[in-house]
Amino acid sequence: MDRLGEELQDFMNGIAASVALIRVNEEGLAVSSCNEIFFDMMGAKRNSIHRYPFSLETIVPNYARRELRLAVINCLADGVSHELEQAYDLKDGTHWWRLSLKPFKKSANSETAEGVFLTGIEITKKMLLMHDLEVSTSRFRSVVDAAYDAIITIDQQHHITLFNRAAEGLFGYDQEEMLDQPLEVLLPPAAREGHRGYVHQFARSPVRSRQMDERNRIYGLHKDGSRIPVEIAISKITVNGLVEFTAIIRDITDKVHLVDLLHRQAAVDDLTGLPNRREFNDVARSLFETENPLSILMMDLDNFKLVNDTYGHEGGDDVLKAFASIARETIGKEHIVARLGGEEFVACLINTDKEEALKIAENLRKKISDRDFSYSWPEDRAIPFTLSIGVAVKGAKDREMSNLLRRADEGLYLAKENGRNRVEAIG
Ligand code: GH3
Ligand code: MG
Ligand code: MG
Repeated sequence: MDRLGEELQDFMNGIAASVALIRVNEEGLAVSSCNEIFFDMMGAKRNSIHRYPFSLETIVPNYARRELRLAVINCLADGVSHELEQAYDLKDGTHWWRLSLKPFKKSANSETAEGVFLTGIEITKKMLLMHDLEVSTSRFRSVVDAAYDAIITIDQQHHITLFNRAAEGLFGYDQEEMLDQPLEVLLPPAAREGHRGYVHQFARSPVRSRQMDERNRIYGLHKDGSRIPVEIAISKITVNGLVEFTAIIRDITDKVHLVDLLHRQAAVDDLTGLPNRREFNDVARSLFETENPLSILMMDLDNFKLVNDTYGHEGGDDVLKAFASIARETIGKEHIVARLGGEEFVACLINTDKEEALKIAENLRKKISDRDFSYSWPEDRAIPFTLSIGVAVKGAKDREMSNLLRRADEGLYLAKENGRNRVEAIG
């Protein structure tokens, strides 16, 4: 090798890419010069080659030979650059290279290319990243599509960019219909403005994910116009300076029904349908806070044990139901009637002074005692019963509802003492 040749070799070895000059000679395609990275790329040993030029085929692995040969021949024939990607299996695994082939001519005006200048850049890292990306993208897709919860993403303009299968099921729309649509389509009209503000505020907050409003019920809007109670967890990511939001939405229709049922059960007495003691205490306490007059009727059915003994427990239950219905009707909807337990009932008369309260109590007592009411008993089997009532009226000294209830209880006790089927007032 002459001096110029050595200089060229040094230069080529200094390039951080694989380079080779390929020419055609009597043996076919021959490498007339190349750098060390070219050998490394092919997985060939530098010292297996004793002289230049050498046949290209001697160092290209079998599986890559045909493709590379064709590319070089095409490049020589049509005189334009070619690119191709090749994978070489080396001892430490597969390496990917992007080869670029550039024809060179003897002189600017010569017709045919004299050879090809090959440069190769390793792209294994990029290929591995792309592979990883493909794997994680398809993993993500399968998780998203198999998810039980609806998953929706929106861009900065609140347009839908992802709508999974569960979302299709929940909202009744196909993914194709929803992509690029404004999210608001899925919200009841009354919730749209509030939602927009909420998302803006979340976009600015330092928190990256949160459960949407846990105190209030949130609803989605189904394609058929019905509202769906939902639970929503939202998160955000920033992509190229723009915020994207993801919502995971769970249909809680069943839960809402159950909670409503539990609320009703917790507040209402099963047998009579009246508010129970707890519900009464809650309501009465808040009524007590007002300045308006307030009266309490404490009511207990007389000799109820005897009713049970005579007509059986079921007969006793029929009486309790009858009384609840009659009391509610006689006392009126504007007041509150509740069952405290057993055969004890209470009424809270709103805006009612003592005179009016006594009138209402006496009216109820008399109606029941005289059987002056219309009520359809089971199997027309009417059971006679009476009750005693204690009346108390809220006074200036009453600090708490319990004072009033205690006095009404005392009135009831007195009514029992004085022979039952009576009304007695204390204070
Ligand atoms: P008084 O006139 O003094 O109030 O006598 P009473 O027999 O009504 O009073 P007591 O408190 O001694 O008895 C109440 C009875 O009510 C006892 C209990 O078995 C019955 N009882 C309580 N809850 C129910 C119920 O839900 N259904 C029925 N059938 N009976 C009940
Ligand atoms: Mg009783
Ligand atoms: Mg009793």
